Amino acid sequence: MNTKFNKLKDKQFLRLSKIGYDITELNKEFDRLNLNGNIDGLKNYIWRKLNSLVNKHQGNNQKLTEIYFEMLMFSDPMEKSRDKYIKTLYYDSLIRSTYESTDMIDFEIVILSKKNDKICKRCREDNYKKYNFDYALKNHLLPHESCTCEYGCTCTLGFIPKRDKNGRLIFND
Ligand SMILES: [Zn+2]
Repeated sequence: MNTKFNKLKDKQFLRLSKIGYDITELNKEFDRLNLNGNIDGLKNYIWRKLNSLVNKHQGNNQKLTEIYFEMLMFSDPMEKSRDKYIKTLYYDSLIRSTYESTDMIDFEIVILSKKNDKICKRCREDNYKKYNFDYALKNHLLPHESCTCEYGCTCTLGFIPKRDKNGRLIFND
């Protein structure tokens, strides 16, 4: 028995099942490929399943956010350009889906960067900076394009309700 292979397979099939696949069906399909013990084959298979979900859910930003998150968890941070590309897709779909689901009150986006001396100037400068959706929908906020952090941009973002000058929430009629 190849434990590393089986552990990876069980873990990833469970994750795939949370975003729309049936574990029994995955196992059936995977067994037919006869990839027993081939880790790279397994990784390619999982990646292919994630990509086919992306194609299936084009236009559904909420679902795409979930799928890109799984892709991010699955991808190797050492493959920097792919990791950066998926992060861009993830944050863009997160911003779009939040924009679509918040019509009662206005939100804005706040950038949160990690606090340690390894974080680059670009990321530190943007910490706590707020952006409105108009800007964020037309520009890629994260990962920072010009980030020079050694292990890539690790900034995240959050959504906070806009308030008027008296501190009250702004409601849309
Ligand atoms: Zn950076």
